[in-house]
Amino acid sequence: MTAARLVHFPAFVDPVTFAQNVYALVGCWIWVFFLVLLAILAWTAAKMLAWRAEKEHYAIRARRDRIGPDGQPYPPTGRGICAACSRTFEKVFVLPSGQKLCRDCYHRRISRDGQ
Ligand SMILES: [Zn+2]
Repeated sequence: MTAARLVHFPAFVDPVTFAQNVYALVGCWIWVFFLVLLAILAWTAAKMLAWRAEKEHYAIRARRDRIGPDGQPYPPTGRGICAACSRTFEKVFVLPSGQKLCRDCYHRRISRDGQ
C-alpha cells in the first residue's frame, strides 16, 4: 500500500499527478504575475517618454511664439493693417516706430535686415 492510496483525494484529483499539477499551476501564476508586472512597467515607461516628448514639443512651440528667428523677442502685437502688404490681420507686430507688420512681412523684414 502506497502513501497516495492512504490519502483520500476527491474523485477529480489524480493522486499520481497532483503535485505536478500544483507545481505547474503555481509556476503559471508566477509567470503571469511577472508578465503583468512587465507590461505595467513597459506601459509606464512608454507614457513617461511620450509625456517628455510632448512637454518638449510644447516648450519649443511656446518659445517659437515668443522669440523670433533672429533670437530677439517679438514686439508687442495688436489687430490692424500690415504696412507692407496692406492686408488686415488679427495679429500684427507693432514696431517701436509705430509701424504695424504682419508675421510674414515681419519675418521678411528681419531676414532682410539681418543680411
Ligand atoms: Zn504683411
